[in-house]
Amino acid sequence: MRIILLGPPGSGKGTQAKLLSHNLGMVHISTGAILRQAIRQQTPEGKLAEPYVTQGRLVPDDVVNQMVAALFRSTDRPTDFLLDGYPRTIDQARTLDGVLREQGLPLDAVLFLDVDDEEILKRLSAGRWDCPNPACGATYNTINKQPRVPGVCDECGSALLQRDDDRESTVRQRLKIFHQVNGALLDHYQHQGLLLRVRGQGKIEDIYDNLARQLKPKQRK
Ligand code: AMP
Repeated sequence: MRIILLGPPGSGKGTQAKLLSHNLGMVHISTGAILRQAIRQQTPEGKLAEPYVTQGRLVPDDVVNQMVAALFRSTDRPTDFLLDGYPRTIDQARTLDGVLREQGLPLDAVLFLDVDDEEILKRLSAGRWDCPNPACGATYNTINKQPRVPGVCDECGSALLQRDDDRESTVRQRLKIFHQVNGALLDHYQHQGLLLRVRGQGKIEDIYDNLARQLKPKQRK
């Protein structure tokens, strides 16, 4: 399948993206993870993106659009994928429409994971920890997904890190930016008949079941 997963920062997008992509055989493409890796490696794109990511602001459209377009134009481009964290603006959505049209890879669905702001602030201030291993990328928090050994990734054993952009003021800033553009993005995909909304609060397994149920009629083959 080819899907986009939309939702506010801290909505559990990353966790659900991993489950969905693993269970339904899609490549998980997270622009946030690609950018954090570029920053760690201090590539030219990483250096450019660093101040934006640290302050919770959006990296300029050109940079992210080029990164994603290059991925879809590469010889080993993904044909079944889940996009997580992209598009985040109308300009990005239009660019993606163009690239996918050019590549003959139409989307099957756009899922919106709906979570209230208060819940997000509660979750993120309770401490979110990420696995820095790019091949793993597991995420944890102290409310509903604690690692078995504090500070250590259950899946690959790496030392977990707290993201610089998870401070409360930064989270508020990221939520503000999210709300400024999200309505237009939802309208964009509603008009294309692709939008599916799922409540993102409650148990991880229940949210996953709702997402998978919504996707069922959209599955090809
Ligand atoms: P995420 O892991 O998706 O929450 O992304 C972390 C940060 O990376 C965001 O706060 C932005 O600074 C940057 N970022 C990720 N994806 C995008 C995007 N599609 N457009 C602009 N900035 C992005």
